[in-house]
Amino acid sequence: MSNVTANIIDNGKLQSPHYAQTSLAAGLTLGFERGLFYRNATLKGLNLLVTYDNKCAADCSYCGLARSRNISESKTFIRVSWPTYAVDEIIDAVNGKQHNLQRVCVGMITHKKAVEDSISIINRFREETDLLISTLVSPTVMEKGDLGRIKEAGADMCGIAVDAATNELFDKLRGEKVSGPHRWRRFWDAVAESVTVFGRYKAGVHLVVGLGETEKEMVNTIQRAHDLGATTHLFSFFPEAGSKMENWPQPDLGHYRRIQLARYIINNHLGQADNMQFSKDGQLTDFGQNLERFLEDGEAFMTSGCAGKDGKVACNRPYGNERPSRPIRNFPFMPTSKDLILIRKQLWRGVK
Ligand code: SF4
Repeated sequence: MSNVTANIIDNGKLQSPHYAQTSLAAGLTLGFERGLFYRNATLKGLNLLVTYDNKCAADCSYCGLARSRNISESKTFIRVSWPTYAVDEIIDAVNGKQHNLQRVCVGMITHKKAVEDSISIINRFREETDLLISTLVSPTVMEKGDLGRIKEAGADMCGIAVDAATNELFDKLRGEKVSGPHRWRRFWDAVAESVTVFGRYKAGVHLVVGLGETEKEMVNTIQRAHDLGATTHLFSFFPEAGSKMENWPQPDLGHYRRIQLARYIINNHLGQADNMQFSKDGQLTDFGQNLERFLEDGEAFMTSGCAGKDGKVACNRPYGNERPSRPIRNFPFMPTSKDLILIRKQLWRGVK
């Protein structure tokens, strides 16, 4: 995976629904790209995005697909390149190659055709493969009844990328303050609607750690999602070259570990935000329980995302948040005993 950002396909006019962008990890898994995963990670979730000339109508400050991003820098989305392939070719590879894929996620960008094209791609995966199907929807371009149509097409889980932990940050990075089309209220209404359509804990809220929120604000937002009936899928901010936040630092590893652990505790009904304690600067100082079992096991520090056929996370996104040469933030596999020693040291790093 060393040449990740160099390996780019010119999208030209390759548009959905006949074409889709897919993560480089999926390209490797399906045999479209050459390379090996660091530490023999295996991809369990195939992430696809509808595509229209590699741009989104929105302008989120941290995103590699934002309309104002200078894409001559590199065509990365969440850290790695997202090459474009024919959907026919992807389905043939899913059916013809050896892999460990359990689920496909069909993701929208903000585009007027995104809903219809996502439904068309979901239909094809339902009819032609045996993968479970998730969708990542863009509430801004959706109309009443669309979630029901997506479920009918074959998706059993639904994600909503709220990304920012507070209303203020959302407006500043995705909404009015950047002349973006997204509205905080609309996104949370879509979370509630997804729970109604897909069922409790079949909806997921994506949150990006490190956009400027405090740990307390992030934990409270995870709890808010959980109380609504949605789980949280965590991402660690990564500065995309050419985006508005290209010089913003990644969150400290200790900060990220504490949020991972709080998310795990809340989403697994093992505790709640009210029982956790925070410093005056909003850092997590006490989880309200003995942490030994979490530190011995390590599952809390794995990638969070939609589950596969075995009930474990399928959307494991190997190295989507960090270079393989850097400490792993979202473990795409169970951490080893060596990893657990490091995690134990990282957990309280930076707490004042
Ligand atoms: S809506 Fe999604 S894809 Fe579009 S700029 Fe924002 S984060 Fe990126």
